[in-house]
Amino acid sequence: MERRAFFGAGLAAAAAAAKTHVVTLSFDDGFKESFERTAAIHEEFGLRACLNVIALGHMPGFAPMPRGMPDPMTPFAKGDFAMWNRLRERGHEVMPHTYDHQNLAAIPIEQAKELIEKCIEYFQEHMEGFRPEQSVYSFAYNASTPEIEAFALRRFLGIRTRGESAMNPLPRGRRATRIGCRSFGPGNCDAFLDGELNRFLDGPGGWYVFNAHGLDEEGWGPMSAAYLRSLLRRLSRMANVAVLPAGEVLLRS
Ligand SMILES: [Zn+2]
Repeated sequence: MERRAFFGAGLAAAAAAAKTHVVTLSFDDGFKESFERTAAIHEEFGLRACLNVIALGHMPGFAPMPRGMPDPMTPFAKGDFAMWNRLRERGHEVMPHTYDHQNLAAIPIEQAKELIEKCIEYFQEHMEGFRPEQSVYSFAYNASTPEIEAFALRRFLGIRTRGESAMNPLPRGRRATRIGCRSFGPGNCDAFLDGELNRFLDGPGGWYVFNAHGLDEEGWGPMSAAYLRSLLRRLSRMANVAVLPAGEVLLRS
């Protein structure tokens, strides 16, 4: 199936012209069950999910680096690239969320650059049609330095990392873009996101980017599936709001 036929790219682009508020819900870490459900809930509303996966996340015994830290990711099964390619075929955006989930702000710059290159190579080998210059790289822990951001911006269309807020200007003209986001955890993120979004929707507009993870019980700062469904229903009924994956926002600009 032509990847975007189902979503009617031309129609969607025309409709986006009237949208003053763009919302991206950017899901990290590649949980098998949560990502399948997240994609299915988006499909209920004709939307594409924004899914970010770790190159080595599906490997047996994978644990995020540095090892030994308590982490809410390891206990839950991750998907693999067969699954990521199927989700992409269904029209969802599946983008890199690091090679092995290292904090690239906490290691020497040369090592950080090497891990970004290894991430790109792994995706080129395993993800159908992957092109970094059309992709968004999401930093682990939303942790980055100006130096590693500059390096990543030379390789990717966009990078997603910590923002002073989750508000970004709507991009005008396609260029390498640093996307600032917010996240909330380790507990359920529904109330935090709802408050942020209500303020955003009351404002003049722009691009709001929230970094989510798993659904219900999975991962750091999970979102309840019932909230995600009610939120997408609400947003998809608002004429001035578009819910789009991050790469699509940049590719359309
Ligand atoms: Zn992560």
